[in-house]
Amino acid sequence: MNAQPQPAYAAAAPAAAADSAYVRIRDVSKKFGDFTAVDHVSLDIRRGEIFCLLGGSGSGKTTLLRMLAGFETPTTGSIEIDGQDLSRVPPYERPVNMMFQSYALFPHMSVEKNVAFGLEQEGLKRDAIRRQVGEILEIVRMEGFGARKPHQLSGGQRQRVALARALVKRPKLLLLDEPLAALDKKLREHTQFELLNIQQRLGVTFIVVTHDQEEAMTLGTRLGVMNQGRIVQVGTPADIYESPATRFVADFIGSVNMFEGQVYENGADGLCIRSADLGCTVRVERAGGGARGATVWTAIRPEKIQIARAAPDGADGAPAENQARGTVKEIAYMGDMSIYLVRLDSGSMVRVTLPNVMRGGERPIGREERVSLTWHGSSPVVLSE
Ligand code: ATP
Repeated sequence: MNAQPQPAYAAAAPAAAADSAYVRIRDVSKKFGDFTAVDHVSLDIRRGEIFCLLGGSGSGKTTLLRMLAGFETPTTGSIEIDGQDLSRVPPYERPVNMMFQSYALFPHMSVEKNVAFGLEQEGLKRDAIRRQVGEILEIVRMEGFGARKPHQLSGGQRQRVALARALVKRPKLLLLDEPLAALDKKLREHTQFELLNIQQRLGVTFIVVTHDQEEAMTLGTRLGVMNQGRIVQVGTPADIYESPATRFVADFIGSVNMFEGQVYENGADGLCIRSADLGCTVRVERAGGGARGATVWTAIRPEKIQIARAAPDGADGAPAENQARGTVKEIAYMGDMSIYLVRLDSGSMVRVTLPNVMRGGERPIGREERVSLTWHGSSPVVLSE
């Protein structure tokens, strides 16, 4: 879609320039009849970053992407790329390209022809086309496959050709809708790293739509989590995983144990929560969390809980803070780690993960054993909504 002459790939933009908003989405909504698919979204995306829009089915990700590409018009709000307001710019004049989930390669054309198609449409000279197609096929490591037809390629190779075709016109912004959905798990992991590599070499800004949280965490410099047409949190993968803003985000990204409770103390050294769900008092080192008496939810990730054989019941006195007792109900051996499902004495189920590090001679904790679960005061996240 971009007809402007561009510098060669070697001179591509450097990686993410900090904090400069390159794509500015301001209060954008999209209605289809009475239904609001995208609801007052404001978002800044930086130059050179891989921004992942993550959300469940129907949360509005693709609709937002299609508005950036110009295939849908916002009902309200504005979109700017590099300072240019796009409201009156048709799709083919935007400095944007989109790679579709299905790859949409022309089946009767060779790889070279598929990649060259957009450049031919622009009327570029044959030599320039050949050079640019050669360069981009080399970048996606498909230089030996130019004469093949799409059906003679593997899924991963087709994905790379689609990427080459989307990048050959050097868009400033590449939109990728579930780019790896057609690949199996192993190939997907491998391709994620390749995609990162290519993006870093070219310095193009990527916006990736995915419902796969692992993919978003691996690819994204930052993520925007969407729910019911709204962006509910924006942050780095670590921000979102370690400090989710709401119960929805905590539950959507990774697995989490969530317990309702009431704030009992909120002071300079943290927060104390009484939770009937947990059957113990939770002491949290972090600030925030609400006034005394407020109902809150304590979220603790399974890998942040330690599990140990409990002393016989009654042997170690009253339960301490950040400690609950229960009985192991299920164990799932996953190879690198095991998942323990523990029924607490309060009746709640807790999920604990343990890495399977070889410990010679130690008898592993088994089903129906009494256990004590503990966690550090920095591990729980306190959520009020
Ligand atoms: P998925 O991961 O399933 O693709 P998504 O987050 O990309 O989901 P969208 O495709 O953006 O979701 O759709 C958001 C909502 O808008 C859905 O409820 C969908 O049915 C609705 N929607 C999308 N396009 C249209 C349309 N052209 N007319 C009416 N409703 C639409």
